[in-house]
Formats: sequence, C-alpha cells, structure tokens
Amino acid sequence: MKTLKEYFAQAREEKWAIGHFNFLTADQLKAFVEAAAELKSPIMVGTSEGEAKFVGHGQAVALVRSYQEAGHAVFLNADHHKSADFAKKAIDAGYDTIAIDTSKLPYEENVAAVKEVVEHGKAKNPEMMIEGELGYLKGSSEVQEKVEISKDDFTKPEEAKAFVEATGIERLAIVFGNLHGVTTDQEMHLDMDVLRGVLQAVPDVQIVLHGGSGLETTEIQEAIANGVTNVHVNTELRLAYHDALESELAKDDESTTPYKFEKPAYEATKAMILQKLKEYGSVNRL
Ligand SMILES: [Zn+2]
Repeated sequence: MKTLKEYFAQAREEKWAIGHFNFLTADQLKAFVEAAAELKSPIMVGTSEGEAKFVGHGQAVALVRSYQEAGHAVFLNADHHKSADFAKKAIDAGYDTIAIDTSKLPYEENVAAVKEVVEHGKAKNPEMMIEGELGYLKGSSEVQEKVEISKDDFTKPEEAKAFVEATGIERLAIVFGNLHGVTTDQEMHLDMDVLRGVLQAVPDVQIVLHGGSGLETTEIQEAIANGVTNVHVNTELRLAYHDALESELAKDDESTTPYKFEKPAYEATKAMILQKLKEYGSVNRL
C-alpha cells in the first residue's frame, strides 16, 4: 500500500484532491470506507478533538486499523487537535497523521506548539505528515446563519513560508474565504489569488481546504484545479446522517434495533461520500 505522502504527491501531480471525512460512529466509518473502495479512492478519515474525546484515540485507531489490515487505503487523522499535548496523545495512540490547530494562538506560540508536534510525530515515524493551520478560520461544524469573513483573517503567503520553515509541517490549512459549517444566509467565495500566492511561497507543501460543507462544488473544483489537494467535509455528513436517522425513526418509532434503524443513515452517508469523491476527481487513483 502507498503511504499518505505518496498519495498526496500523486494528487498534486494529477490535480485531484483526497477527501477528508469526520466520523464518530462505526457505521459512519464503514460508509466512508465502502464508498472509497467502490470508487478506488484513497481517503482520510478524521476525529476532531470532541469526536476523539468521545470515541477514544485508541478505539478510533483500532477501528481504522481493521480496515487497513483488510487492504483499504484509509488514513486516520487527528483533526483540529487544539493543543500539542492532545495531539501528542493521538500520535502515541497510533494515528497516521495529525492536524494540529493552534491557529488561534499568537504566531510565535502557534509555531512553538506545531513544532513540538512535528518533532514528536517524526520521532515515532519519520514519514508522518503533520498539518498546521495559519489564518483565522471562523465558524463551527453546524448550520449557522451568517459568519463574518474578513480578508484580515486570510493566510498571508510570506507568513506561510516562514511558518513552514519554522515548523517543518507538510500540509497547511489555509484561510481564503472558507469557513467551518454551513451558512444559510450567506454565499461563500474563495480567493484564488491567495491560494496561488501561498502555493508559490510554499510549493512543496500540500494545501488543505477546510469547510468543504458550505462551498459550491464549482468553487471547490476551481480550488483543486489551482492546487488544493485535500478537502475536509464534516457538517454536511452530520446533516445527512441526522436527517436520514430522524425520518427513519419518525416512520417507525417502535423500532429498537440499531442495525435496522441506522441503515438509512449509513446509506445516506455512503451516497454523499460517493458524490464527494467524484467531485474531487479521486476516482480510480489507487
Ligand atoms: Zn476543519
């Protein structure tokens, strides 16, 4: 099996993106992996700090390992881990890759925290890719009316270069018009000039787009054409799962068998992953 780093190099070369999907339950993960296997797409699956605290780092690793051992190209990411200590726990538990997000800290403190995680990760596995984040990515993984976006929060290319050199990260999450979650009262647009500027400044780093839920497909595809190689989706998957589960339970409120009443939620999730992987151009890339 290829490493995550090799898949990223391939994605950059061939101009497609690796989908990153967050899970909490075993049936969500099963839907992701089966959709990816059907389309022959490598995928990343992630647990945010909240998700990891609920599931347990060790349990998330065990679930994903069971698919890896069956030959699936699925990689487990510690998504938006907000402290070096918690990210290091994920590394120790066996996560394949880490997204340390201390972007709310002042620049120097962000650098110090990310560097600490990179050193810890590389000591365990020299091939481990660590992601850092620069710029202020607003919003949360839910439905919101409106989130104010300011160009002051966007990632600055010269800062990105200094940040990469100071920390040794190999993936960079940038802010260029994106936000977390879905907004009902606002259109989002990505600033491709910022993306191109960052890529010029750090040509060897993989660029990550967070907030894939609230963006038009055409915007995401334009970002991929301009060099984004990783797209994160969480909120849309939560909505699909929740809505399918809710309508199933409303249909038959006597049902108490989880593998029966969860099935439509699993199927809605799988359908969404199939669609996303096609949109990101990651079909037939194994
Ligand atoms: Zn994110």
